[in-house]
Amino acid sequence: MAEVSTKNVETIGYVVHGPKQEFKLEDLVLDDIQDNELLVDMKYSGICHTDLVFQQGEIQICKYPAVFGHEGAGTIKAIGRGVKNKDLKVGDFVLLSINYCEECKFCKTGHPANCIEGTRLHLHGNRPDGSTSAKLKETGESVRCHFFGQSSFAKTTFVQETSVVRFPYAPEEAAKFAAMGCGYQTGAGTVMNILKPNPDSSLVVFGLGTVGLTAVMAAKYMKVKQIIAVDIKESKFAVAKELGATDTINSREFPDSVAKIKELTGGAMADYCIDCTGVPAVIENMLNCIGMLGTAATVGVPPAGAKISLDPLQYLFGSKKYIGCREGDSIPPEYIPKLVEMQRSGDFPVEKLVTVYDYKDIEKALHDLHDGTCIKPVIQWS
Ligand SMILES: [Zn+2]
Ligand SMILES: [Zn+2]
Repeated sequence: MAEVSTKNVETIGYVVHGPKQEFKLEDLVLDDIQDNELLVDMKYSGICHTDLVFQQGEIQICKYPAVFGHEGAGTIKAIGRGVKNKDLKVGDFVLLSINYCEECKFCKTGHPANCIEGTRLHLHGNRPDGSTSAKLKETGESVRCHFFGQSSFAKTTFVQETSVVRFPYAPEEAAKFAAMGCGYQTGAGTVMNILKPNPDSSLVVFGLGTVGLTAVMAAKYMKVKQIIAVDIKESKFAVAKELGATDTINSREFPDSVAKIKELTGGAMADYCIDCTGVPAVIENMLNCIGMLGTAATVGVPPAGAKISLDPLQYLFGSKKYIGCREGDSIPPEYIPKLVEMQRSGDFPVEKLVTVYDYKDIEKALHDLHDGTCIKPVIQWS
């Protein structure tokens, strides 16, 4: 297949012009491919909570205007001269994930999700060299279009080589996998790569969105005996039970989930707790639900500068741990194919989370996400 021209490619993308501004579909012009990039035509883009945190301006690391989106699936249209992975070909279908530097001690020891350059590479919206890769067609204004090395809310975009994982199946199958690169690997990886519970464990998940529910799936896959799912929306519990939750707690009805978890665990409290909400009050509640030798994990993104209180004596007496987990500590080129195969064998039923929307219907997708009608909205571009 012949490579297309990579200079001044015209496309469309959802641009955010400032905090709390809408996702506005606009015409973009990309400049030219860099050596370590691929030109990717998006077919599907997942919407992750982090995109909304940045659109709302709760974290303002990326300057505006910017194209967000960090879960994508699409076709390689061109390959930069310096791309090292010679298995990648024009026409290949790929899933997109986090980019990383490959050079720091964390990348070199198998922890690219904790790359020392991660904040800059993921969140500034620029290329690693600081340049921007797109302009607004109408005004010529620069647009940050490299969020997590990809900005998957653009139909066509330059993607860092490290963000690309080859998908060996039909593109039409990829809608259910579009969120591999962040949501799924974060939820499943927190359980499988970081907490590693044994079957006798009790594990509590706070917040039943994509990350929380993939954590539930992974806990079931690891045969965890007691999986307690906590949310404020009753509508989430049927799917949580279907995916493996053994107990559910509506924390609107039981604001003190501590007492309820004590009861459910026979007084021992939980071995593992995962907060997927990022809400400081929920994190504090989670910290009180941990039993002796237990681990509490922060996964949901809290607002910048948020503070919580923790009783260190309680943590000392129980030899407890409170940790942060980013992207499930995944190595995307290894872990994403594993999760794809788990789905195909029925052990990771992420298809139950996904609703596909036409790319023009992003407002409806966001509405459905907020009211709980939809768990993982995926935009279809073509
Ligand atoms: Zn690194
Ligand atoms: Zn994300």
